[in-house]
Amino acid sequence: MAAPVLVWFRDDHRLADNPALAAAVASGAPILCFFIFDEISEGFRPLGGAARWWLHGSIEALDESLKRLGSKLILLQGAAESVIERIASETGASAIFWNRRYTAEEIAVDSAIKKSLTVRGIKAHSFNGRLLNEPWEITNQSGKPFQVFTPYSRAVGQRPVAAPLPAPQNLESGNWPSSILDEALSLAELHLEPVRPDWAGGFRNHWQRGESAALERLADFLDGGLKGYAENRDIPGVEGTTRLSPHLRFGEIGPRQIWHAIAHRRSHEPGLGRDAEKLLSEVVWREFAYQLLYQYPDLSRASHSRRFAHFPWSEDEKAFEAWQKGLTGYPMVDAGMRQLWRTGWMHNRVRMIVASFLIKHLLIDWRRGEAWFWDTLVDADPANNAFGWQWVAGSGPDSAPFHRIFNPVTQGEKFDPQGNYVKAFVPELANLPSAFIHKPWEAPPLVLRSAGITLGRTYPLPIVPHGPARERALEAFRRLRDEQ
Ligand code: FAD
Repeated sequence: MAAPVLVWFRDDHRLADNPALAAAVASGAPILCFFIFDEISEGFRPLGGAARWWLHGSIEALDESLKRLGSKLILLQGAAESVIERIASETGASAIFWNRRYTAEEIAVDSAIKKSLTVRGIKAHSFNGRLLNEPWEITNQSGKPFQVFTPYSRAVGQRPVAAPLPAPQNLESGNWPSSILDEALSLAELHLEPVRPDWAGGFRNHWQRGESAALERLADFLDGGLKGYAENRDIPGVEGTTRLSPHLRFGEIGPRQIWHAIAHRRSHEPGLGRDAEKLLSEVVWREFAYQLLYQYPDLSRASHSRRFAHFPWSEDEKAFEAWQKGLTGYPMVDAGMRQLWRTGWMHNRVRMIVASFLIKHLLIDWRRGEAWFWDTLVDADPANNAFGWQWVAGSGPDSAPFHRIFNPVTQGEKFDPQGNYVKAFVPELANLPSAFIHKPWEAPPLVLRSAGITLGRTYPLPIVPHGPARERALEAFRRLRDEQ
């Protein structure tokens, strides 16, 4: 029997448009599929709780899909390099196939594995399964990576996007040796889902994990959500965006599939032009974030702008806790933080508002916010999360200026005028008339009383006043510049 080949799944939990899997199938050799839960390779950032929850369902769905093709997913745990060393020698595999990853630590591990397998005569084939373009493929006229989104996006628009690959219909499965099967773990043994307390109840009501769910969500959105996306995407009280982010994070769907599905729909419905353009451009923001992560491996760890190295960050733990719990007294901020806690996801507009509030109103280091999002978001992504935080802080390569300070009241009045979003996540304000929903402290006592609200008791007063907090932030930033 021919030597088997290995397919290593990592953040690409799908059968369709999976170039590593497709190439393994094309090799004609029997295939062995596996996943390594690796939290110990040097510098690897452990997944947060919400992402672990998602990963559980993602692996389960992938295993079911592989089983339908007569194969299965073997789960192993440990440092990838040594696990692969063992798998390679015990299976007698002739080659390994994987899709690329982009943090510096992952690249280092993958390069080391490739090198040691090559020395042993085992071919390591890697592919782009995660992005429209590799981070090193899009450069400016001097051959350097772009630092600014608009020209980057223009350059992306000039390149064709390869058509997505179909899912394999058949898969010749190899036989795992018993030595590897003996050390394989069941999904439950990875302990990815919370047990006591089981805080993921709200997540289950909101999400279906896995490739089929991702494809269904995309199809549903194209049918019912794409028209009007350009406007609706900014209204947190409606389901105006795709909510594909956790599926993309775990590779249950790839950007090429999304790209071509949108382009196809647009070609049949020319009236969708603006909405389709806007959604495609969001997908390109994700590409841009990956390009920056590749260029600046410290994106989640250090402010890109050196000016921020001496920023006088506050250590106010009580304020940080109020932000985490959604008890700041600003309804828009609190609704966002509670949506995050309850569902593992937050609307993009509100991510910007809560991030700005933490950094600028509370003067708390953006990295603490990034870490909280990392732990609580089902879509916590090494590139998008760090990029999003640095963008709001004004410390990133292409970011909003620091002096752009979101006013949580006017943002709420503009994007949630009836207070639907606030009322969905801050039930103690449900009976407040919309005129006061974003500033309950301005409501007359009678109005508060008939809404059942006692400020400071049933709902907090603002933990910082907007005007002075804004001035304090601007002053801190000005002083920083003076010290340059
Ligand atoms: P849609 O509007 O339907 O967009 C489709 C896809 O485009 C998204 O799934 C996402 O992959 C991409 N996209 C959309 N907006 C952005 C953006 N601003 N930057 C980069 N890619 C984008 N996104 C994550 O996927 N993971 C994160 O950890 C993350 N952290 C963030 C932190 C902050 C502080 C901010 C301001 C933004 C963050 N984002 C993050 C970006 C954005 O908020 C989410 O991608 C988006 O809300 C996901 O919802 P959706 O899939 O419905 O988006």
